[in-house]
Parts: sequence; structure tokens; C-alpha cells
Amino acid sequence: MKRRILCALLTLILCACALSGCKEQPELREFTTFAMDTAINFTFYCEDGSRTGQAYTTMANGLSDLDSLLSVTGEDSDVSRVNRSAGQPVEVGDWAALALSQALELCAVTDGALDITAYPAVKAWGFTQEEHRVPSEEELAELAAKIDYSAVKLKGNTITLPEGMEIDLGAVAKGFAGDWLAQQVRNIYPGKDSALLDLGQSTIVAVGSKPGGKPWRIGIVDPARPGSYFAVVELEDMAMGTSGGYQRYFERDGVTYWHILDPDTAAPARSGLSSVTVVSPSALLCDGLSTALFVMGLEEGTAFWENHPELEFEAVFVTEDGEIYRTAGLEGRFFLAEGYEDREVTVLE
Ligand code: ADP
Ligand code: MG
Repeated sequence: MKRRILCALLTLILCACALSGCKEQPELREFTTFAMDTAINFTFYCEDGSRTGQAYTTMANGLSDLDSLLSVTGEDSDVSRVNRSAGQPVEVGDWAALALSQALELCAVTDGALDITAYPAVKAWGFTQEEHRVPSEEELAELAAKIDYSAVKLKGNTITLPEGMEIDLGAVAKGFAGDWLAQQVRNIYPGKDSALLDLGQSTIVAVGSKPGGKPWRIGIVDPARPGSYFAVVELEDMAMGTSGGYQRYFERDGVTYWHILDPDTAAPARSGLSSVTVVSPSALLCDGLSTALFVMGLEEGTAFWENHPELEFEAVFVTEDGEIYRTAGLEGRFFLAEGYEDREVTVLE
């Protein structure tokens, strides 16, 4: 009897080993490439290391292509060709058409809090070339009057933009790239994917979980002290994006002006928030919505979250006073970081 129990136990242990892949420990590989004005880091855990080089090359090359098609400053990019079109229809490639249609959908669902036609205003503030200036009230009123995503017409791969308007996919490009990169990892390592794709300080995509099934743990920057993280979110097959006034800004006469603009005023959005983080399976949604919710502010942003369960996102808001709010769906996935344990977190239900 004892022997039978022992045999059964041994079989069980062997099975467990085979299932968990104990024969081979996944290898950690890290790569960095530069695109979209930022360093992009890929972290892979792979059982078949021979494919990692191929994965990296495919991803880095694709990213560089995407960057050159979507960049607003690249002379030959699809976006620049659209911006030079003077009201004439322009044929763009599949990637630009897809990114544009997804961006326009987000502009519509956020009722223009995200607006890809804010570009002339972004330029007027000098954020594109980092030559900052404060436009006059009159100039801002003129700029705001021309911001209107609904005037952009996209049919298949043909885009028509009214003369005098310009587009910029800066608020969603990293998210779009993140979703594409995650798809590459899933194609190359089907069923065994485990990777973290970090697209600069604001957009991150977790593919699968860490080896052993543990989630990836990602910090959210404290907008009051951008060198530290006030919270950690556990992610598994999930993306996270943060938009904040602390990310790109300049100061003039004691006033801080940041790069997220309110399309209604063409001026930096002053909604009382200092950062918004969005967690969702889609990196594009995280990127675009974090910008839009920053424009909306806490109250309107919370109502948006309540009214759009179909978007399947969760959010963390930090106000200019340092108050922290998070949505109920982050229960068990959101934790205050070391040194921040005594901060109060209001749960939005
Ligand atoms: P980052 O690109 O630093 O991650 P965001 O995703 O928040 O930051 O996008 C901000 C960028 O998007 C700005 O640099 C600007 O080019 C553009 N932008 C600013 N305000 C808006 C807006 N309301 N809608 C769409 N794009 C915007
Ligand atoms: Mg964004």
C-alpha cells in the first residue's frame, strides 16, 4: 500500500516538473533601441534563446519603420505628407491608415478631449522643436477655433484634411507601437510569451506573465517627485500608460506650461490633475485615454470611466494637491509603494 502511494507521489512530481518546464529555466534577455524620441527597452524571458535575436531584429526594424511613417517631424512621413496636403486627399500606407482610424475613434469617444488636430497649437507653444513660447490670448483663440478632429476624413487609406489644419499622432503613437510589438512577441513565441515592452517613461506593455506565473510589477511615477514611484500595479497581458504635466514642460515668469493641451483653449490643460494612469489590454487605449482623461479632470474623467465599461479600462488619478484616486477594478492589483504606505487612496466605485 505504502509503495503504491509513493509511486503515485513520484508520478505526480514528475508530471508537475514536465508541465512547469523545470528542465529548462527561461533565459532573461534585454535589448534597447531608440525610436519615437525615446529609449525603448524590451525584456524577454525565453525558453528558446535562438529566436530572441530574430525577435529583436523584427521588432526594432518594425519600430523604426513605424516611427518614420507616423513621425510629425520626419519630412517624408505619412503624417507630414498629410500636413502638407493643402486640403487635397492623400494616400497613406496601411499602418498610418490603421493608426489614424484608431486615433480618430478615440477622439470621437472622448468627445474631443483627445484631438489629433491640436498640432498647430502644440507647435505654437514650441513643444515640437523645444523652442518654448507663450502665445497671446488672441493667437490661442485662433488656434483653438481650428482644432476639430471631426473635419478629418478617412476613407480606406485616403485621408483628407482641411487646409490650415495639421495632425499629430504623438498622444497615441507609442501605444499603437506597443500593441504591434506585443503582437510580434506573441507570434514569435506562441503560448510561451513572456515579455515587458517599455516604450519610454509613459507606456508599457506586459506580454504574458513573468516565468513562474507571477505578474509584472510596474511603478507609477510620483508627479511631485518624478524620480520615485508612489504605487505599483501588477500587470499580466495588460498595458499601462501615464500622462502627466511633469513629463514635458517649461516655466515662464513662474508659471509652468506642459505639453498636454486642452483642445477647447489650445492652452495647457489645467484640470486640477498632475497625472493620469490608464490600465487596459490595449496600449493604444492606455496612451490616448491617459491624455484625454488628463484634459477632462477627475470629475469628468470618473464619469467617463463609469459611462464606458465597454472600453474595459481602469485608471489612477493624482491631483495637483497630491490626492490619489483609483478605480475599483484595480483591487488586488494596485499597491502603494515603499515610503508611500500611509497615503490615502480613494476608490472610485
Ligand atoms: P507622451 O507623448 O509624452 O507620452 P502623451 O501621450 O500624453 O505624452 O501625449 C502628449 C502629446 O500629444 C503632446 O506632446 C502633443 O504632441 C500631443 N497632444 C497634446 N495635447 C493633446 C490632445 N489634447 N489631444 C491629442 N494630442 C495632444
Ligand atoms: Mg498619451
